[in-house]
Amino acid sequence: MRLEGKTALITGGASGIGLATVRKFVREGAKVMIADIDLRQAEAAVAAIAGEGFDGAVAAVAVDVSVYAQVEAAVARAVEVFGRLDVIFNNAGIAGGRPLLEHEPEKDYEPIIRIDQNGVYYGILAAGRQFRRQGTGGVIVSTSSIYGEQAAELSFSYSAAKAAVISFTRSAAYELAEYGVRAVAITPGRVGTPIINQFSEELKSTFAAEQLRNRLTAPEEIADVVAFLASDEANAINGTVVSVDDGYSVFKQRLD
Ligand code: NAD
Repeated sequence: MRLEGKTALITGGASGIGLATVRKFVREGAKVMIADIDLRQAEAAVAAIAGEGFDGAVAAVAVDVSVYAQVEAAVARAVEVFGRLDVIFNNAGIAGGRPLLEHEPEKDYEPIIRIDQNGVYYGILAAGRQFRRQGTGGVIVSTSSIYGEQAAELSFSYSAAKAAVISFTRSAAYELAEYGVRAVAITPGRVGTPIINQFSEELKSTFAAEQLRNRLTAPEEIADVVAFLASDEANAINGTVVSVDDGYSVFKQRLD
């Protein structure tokens, strides 16, 4: 029960890494607001988790993280329902890309920057303001990617957005320290969520082989780390990146 008494808002909490983290957080004693653009799936998650014995511990709100007013409203809703906010997990994101010179900027650059980059900035801003109002401190965990630290195939826009998440984390830790706020970014490698599961078995095997132990990471394994980072046990981890890629980055360096 390392998150007992804490309230969290998890963007992209209706699926994949976000949903696994919602489940982990409630099992650790937290109250969780799922904030997702897919309200139907978010509400289905609330019903399922309530049925697992956590009725009242989880609620849902519709949000498009690329619109600041909606992110601010989602934070306000979490505070209205659960009384306070202690943790935001900025996790909503989309993937995808085409070769740079094939880009149509409004299709291949702008949506990813709006959701994966601006969405995290808006989460930091709205939660940071709430933490300051409360005077309680708080924790900001944000999902970057291995691609935030390296160039990769078909990832010009995604890499830019995920690199910004790392930069935001450092700056947020710096700027919000006076309010007792910590910020941490995680860099998943290849995780078995709908983003990856949509691909062919062959491509999934290739992805798995990029990690040192030849397996995709389970979303629950990322959730375990996020719960730790959000807890007081991780009080010394601040303004930095925690790698959760099962050795992917080591493998790439070894090839180089
Ligand atoms: P997912 O598709 O299972 O979940 C993403 C969730 O975000 C969905 O519920 C979706 O509805 C929501 N979402 C999308 N756009 C939104 C918006 N504008 N506003 C609010 N919610 C929105 O994917 P996932 O694999 O769990 O990805 C979660 C995060 O992890 C993303 O930021 C992704 O870039 C990152 N990531 C994933 C992997 C991987 O291998 N799966 C690797 C590295 C990083």
